[in-house]
Amino acid sequence: MILCYAEFDQNKLKNSTKELSSWCLEQKQNFACFGFAELTPEQKTDLENAGVPSYIQMTNTGDSYSSMGWGEALANLVSAKQSKAVLATSNTQTKEFVAAGIYKSQGSVVSDVIALSLDAGQFKAQKPLYAGKCISSIKFEGEGPVGILMRPNQIQVQTPESPSTIQIETFEASPSAPGCVLKISVKGSSEKQDLTEASRIVSGGRGMKEPENFKLLEDLADTLGATVGASRAVVDVGWVAHSMQVGQTGKTVSPNLYIACGISGAIQHLAGMSSSKVIVAINTDKEAPIFEKATYGIVGDALELVPKLNEAFKKAL
Ligand SMILES: Cc1cc2nc3c(=O)[nH]c(=O)nc-3n(C[C@H](O)[C@H](O)[C@H](O)COP(=O)(O)OP(=O)(O)OC[C@H]3O[C@@H](n4cnc5c(N)ncnc54)[C@H](O)[C@@H]3O)c2cc1C
Repeated sequence: MILCYAEFDQNKLKNSTKELSSWCLEQKQNFACFGFAELTPEQKTDLENAGVPSYIQMTNTGDSYSSMGWGEALANLVSAKQSKAVLATSNTQTKEFVAAGIYKSQGSVVSDVIALSLDAGQFKAQKPLYAGKCISSIKFEGEGPVGILMRPNQIQVQTPESPSTIQIETFEASPSAPGCVLKISVKGSSEKQDLTEASRIVSGGRGMKEPENFKLLEDLADTLGATVGASRAVVDVGWVAHSMQVGQTGKTVSPNLYIACGISGAIQHLAGMSSSKVIVAINTDKEAPIFEKATYGIVGDALELVPKLNEAFKKAL
């Protein structure tokens, strides 16, 4: 059995989890989703609409998140179900607890996966290295279970013809008392989709000249249903919040569309966004390194071009 970690945004099943279940359905794999909380009726319906056959609710894992506690709980579940693989979205939390659980199960984990296949029962994954300059292909050959942490927006979500009737079971995970637990988690004020999950991102750098000009990016993002990101240069000077930073020391994103406005394309920025499917760069300098990664490049002033693009998209969409 494959275990997929189910993540929700409030009551809605995250698109990244739908990608995992779509992959399992397409590969005709026996799979179940698991989580650490009781499902709300809306969450249950969302899982059924995604075709998920069963949900395992871990119980007795404590009130708060703990990487080692959840990791041990996962290891217990993997052992009980004799699971050969755990799939989860690649994010800070899963890089902790799925890695801890698979390590405890004497398996292997790979994060930031952008392509996954099954060949005669053997999992094969691909992940970018060195800011996307090369792609590494990974074969899992050991005996233990594999942990595969997928970047969002890599798998086409398929909506099954008819919803499933989900079986819900509880699993008494009972990990040992954890050494440390998460006490408080503060949600950002933005109503927009989190950068790591967003399928469209409009991002700005120092070329936007002033923090007020980020309003142009927000307007374009509203038209496109996108989330606004930024380079570290503008985060460091306090124009925008750190939660908006894309790159090596910010967030790793893989949207279908990334529009970089006034961003030079330093290697540390590329490290966080080079696996985006379509990259549009707007820059006054035709030699800017971002153009080497861009699918479409526009040499020009972002302050003039972004409002024009916004008007054009408003008419077209
Ligand atoms: C250890 C380390 C970690 C780092 N981590 C990150 C990270 O996570 N994310 C990150 O982004 N950076 C990171 N950096 C910083 C990185 O090296 C760059 O300094 C930064 O990305 C530059 O940001 P920028 O492109 O906005 O600014 P700049 O490099 O100054 O580029 C501004 C660009 O705007 C263009 N421009 C100017 N005016 C206009 C206009 N009117 N219209 C259009 N274009 C215009 C210019 O031609 C230029 O290409 C890191 C650096 C280090 C050392």
